[in-house]
Amino acid sequence: MHYVAITGGVISGLGKGTITSSLAHLLVNSGLQVSALKIDPYLNYDAGTMNPYQHGEVFVLDDGSEVDLDLGNYERFIDRDLTGDNNITTGKVYREVIEKERRGEYLGNTVQIIPHVTNEIKRRIRKVAQHDRDDVLLIEVGGTVGDIESMPFLEALREMKREEPESTFLFCHVTMIPEIGQSMEQKTKPTQHSVSSLRSIGIQPDIIFARSKNPLSIESRKKISLFTDVPEEGVISINDVQNVYTLPHIMHEQGLASYVVQRLGLSNGSFSDKWAGIRKNLSSPRDEVVIALVGKYTELTDAYFSHKEAFSHVTGLTGVKVNIKWVNSDLLKTSAEPLSGVHGILVPGGFGYRGVEGKVQAAKYARENRIPYLGICMGFQVAVIDFARNVLGLTGANSTEFDSSTADPVIDLLPEQEGVSDKGGTMRLGSRKVLIEENSEAMSIYGQKQIFERHRHRYEVNPKYIQRLTEGGMKFSGKDEDMIRMEILELKDRHNFMASQYHAEFKSRPLRPAYLYMHFVMNASKYKRGERN
Ligand code: GLN
Repeated sequence: MHYVAITGGVISGLGKGTITSSLAHLLVNSGLQVSALKIDPYLNYDAGTMNPYQHGEVFVLDDGSEVDLDLGNYERFIDRDLTGDNNITTGKVYREVIEKERRGEYLGNTVQIIPHVTNEIKRRIRKVAQHDRDDVLLIEVGGTVGDIESMPFLEALREMKREEPESTFLFCHVTMIPEIGQSMEQKTKPTQHSVSSLRSIGIQPDIIFARSKNPLSIESRKKISLFTDVPEEGVISINDVQNVYTLPHIMHEQGLASYVVQRLGLSNGSFSDKWAGIRKNLSSPRDEVVIALVGKYTELTDAYFSHKEAFSHVTGLTGVKVNIKWVNSDLLKTSAEPLSGVHGILVPGGFGYRGVEGKVQAAKYARENRIPYLGICMGFQVAVIDFARNVLGLTGANSTEFDSSTADPVIDLLPEQEGVSDKGGTMRLGSRKVLIEENSEAMSIYGQKQIFERHRHRYEVNPKYIQRLTEGGMKFSGKDEDMIRMEILELKDRHNFMASQYHAEFKSRPLRPAYLYMHFVMNASKYKRGERN
């Protein structure tokens, strides 16, 4: 087994996750089998209970794990499904250590960060490596060198490098090169400082990813190499780019795959560049549409990361660019004006009462004006609420999540959620089978009777209202295996109004966009051309 650890320096937000994913993509498409693991040094057990304002969207894996959004990047860049073991947090490590201590497994010893916590970290990393048996495991360490929380992880990695056979472990460090003054001179001093912090804890990097606005000058590369003891071929320039799908290519042009492979003593094939078409369509699209994304975290667009990516996948394949208009749902309570002129409306997932009435308005506006609509999870539920209120005339209809004493609880708690009080990891989570009805729009989109999609919800369509909703013209064209859980809805006389209880965005991949997003964007493009349905 071979390992490549990626640490961050100088400041956060340098795109370490994207760099890790791009390196993984580069190695996979150079003929190696690669997996990736993210270390999140925070104390939370997982990302599930975190507000999206903290770290962006909570990503969901097939096995139901709620993880950091970087895992979504890994899955998309290496086109492979990962598991919860690929995300290590301080919470997971400490829980295990304390449970072991309670079982008496430390045999009376004082339990300490070194070696007990570091051993547990190493055990978890090796477990992933042994289970997957890949050529290379990439290990991304969240945060920045010098953070107190990440110290035990860096120490564990330092020890691992000593313990693993010679030349099987590399360290990469991502740093920032500021460009200052009128001449935009590139400054390497922050990189020098950051590398000396790393060295002070016993880690010498083998590769430097230098993040800068413009490509690294020859002089800066030489200087970084001189001060950090990293050979020039190991200093990789990562300048600002329009779209992240160009990064593997930028790395390839600097000979990174060969360098990594040679340092690890592996052998590789030549890089097969699968994303050339995607890059072309993203940089010179043939058409553009405006999609309103209606949510309550619109100030931090990373809260909707996988939706943005799913749209990029559609653009990459079809050349239809999606310009997202970020609409704060609170604004729609008073006026639908922010939605006028858009070619499609997306209402994504969400929790809690704030902003929900605006989302109901968005579904209503799309339905009444025959604008393409895509509802995801809460976006599915608000479409049901609007329909019950404004088509069936059940004016007080609501979800019991927002109004526990509503006259018509058209959306209600999943029965198995009764009495569940813990918030972490207790929703209906992960991959579940969805059966598609014959003669439906959903069948024309998916073309198969059953699909597997990822879920994350506590509420669902109340079975007591299904008959009335159906009679009124709402069609539930996707259901769970027991046929009691509604998974996809469409409207009887429409092709372009669809919603799913599942999160189609989580399984969207470059070259294989999620079908619902593809269908939605194609309908938005038709709508723009004046084709109404
Ligand atoms: N809050 C809703 C539920 O729990 C929707 C969840 C979501 O959109 N992810 O069912």
